[in-house]
Amino acid sequence: MAKPVVAIVGRPNVGKSTVFNRIAGQRVSIVDDAPGVTRDRIYTSAEWLGHEFNLIDTGGIDIVDQPFVVQIKEQAEIAIEEADVIVFVTSVREGITDADENVARLLYRSDKPVVLAVNKVDNQELRQDIYDYYALGFDEPIGISGVHGIGVGDLLDEIIKHFPTDIEPEDETRIRFSLIGRPNVGKSSLVNAILGENRVIVSDIAGTTRDAIDTRFAAANGTEFNMIDTAGLRKRGKAYENAEKYSVLRAMSAIDRSDVVLVVLNAEEGIREQDKKIAGYAHEAGRGIIIVVNKWDTLKKDNHSLNNFEQAIRANFAYLDYAPIVFVSAKSKQRLNQIPGMIEHVSENQSRRITSSTLNDVLLDAIATNPTPSSNGKRLRIYYATQVAVKPPTFIVFVNDPDMMHFSYERFLENQLRNAFEFSGTPIHIIVRRRK
Ligand code: GDP
Ligand code: GDP
Repeated sequence: MAKPVVAIVGRPNVGKSTVFNRIAGQRVSIVDDAPGVTRDRIYTSAEWLGHEFNLIDTGGIDIVDQPFVVQIKEQAEIAIEEADVIVFVTSVREGITDADENVARLLYRSDKPVVLAVNKVDNQELRQDIYDYYALGFDEPIGISGVHGIGVGDLLDEIIKHFPTDIEPEDETRIRFSLIGRPNVGKSSLVNAILGENRVIVSDIAGTTRDAIDTRFAAANGTEFNMIDTAGLRKRGKAYENAEKYSVLRAMSAIDRSDVVLVVLNAEEGIREQDKKIAGYAHEAGRGIIIVVNKWDTLKKDNHSLNNFEQAIRANFAYLDYAPIVFVSAKSKQRLNQIPGMIEHVSENQSRRITSSTLNDVLLDAIATNPTPSSNGKRLRIYYATQVAVKPPTFIVFVNDPDMMHFSYERFLENQLRNAFEFSGTPIHIIVRRRK
């Protein structure tokens, strides 16, 4: 199921990011192991009373070189475009300002449900003032204090009431993939080139708005794919499209719906910091990953070019050592025909199940070649392992003392699994548990 999207909008300083963090904090956070991924969050998954959703803080998307009014306008437009429910945050401390009224006017134009939050209601006395906010023209204002956590539950109750009930289940029969990357690496050129080489399936079922931007196609061997639109590929010319945070946001929502993600790099410009961030999100989400180096036509190449570029990728994306790399050109179409097959292969690996007996044979061999670590006369004992999930393949390893499972030994076990089974393109999760 595609999760509903909730976007927070409002003028600066009303407390959007405080409210965002407060809602994100309701959820037990997953430990990130990709570097630099946790900071500057503007997108997170969250849950309230069993309803899962994705949350966007549009205030974190700064559109460079634009005056303040344009920034707010673009942020509101992003919310209107992306969200199923919009949370309009104001602040009781300053009363209704011109900027608040501007935001309200932008939101009237959308038919998306708007929940009005009046923030900074830190005490009972301030509660009386929230009724003034009816003047903004939305339903009942909800008084909250992001800092103190007051009223946030009421706000969430109101938000989930507006979740669409008719979200179509994701199509499970086709492999879902997306192309992510910073602006200008060539994502939309690749989308068009890939579609140009394959048979596009025109669906006669009118989908939901969000489905409408997916494209289904069949490769030469008949395998069917669903390409998830990422970069707002079909609508161009908005100032915010080149904002770094906006491209991250698009990437995150695409990753969320994909089985396999193509991380697109630009051979002409080399590897940039933002490439690493975007790839880190895909890794963290446990998706299948293929690294696509585009614009390969632009390089003056010799015998070493490919190897050198590959080494640079391996050095910069150490945590993606499992991801295959393909060097392509959307312009000359070089190697584009390899992409569907690679996606299919990675998708199979993501769903691979290993029987417990085979798995434990491999573990026994591993332990025999490289004995488990020991300290203070005590040795780590591995009793048994079993696969508990796919997408990505997830294994529970039962041991005597989980603290003794060092990172390096876990890494060794992962490598043994990768040597024994075909898992290229997919992360593997290993969970270490004490045997009860
Ligand atoms: P944003 O620009 O809308 O994202 O606002 P921030 O979340 O950065 O908050 C702006 C300022 O308001 C910060 O100094 C926050 O500490 C403060 N703030 C946020 N929520 C509350 C609240 O509930 N009560 C009070 N008194 N201050 C708050
Ligand atoms: P996006 O922002 O990632 O969607 O990038 P676009 O697909 O809009 O491409 C950005 C620019 O790079 C455009 O001018 C494209 O014509 C150009 N471009 C895309 N792919 C290639 C390629 O393989 N080779 C060359 N030389 N240019 C390309």
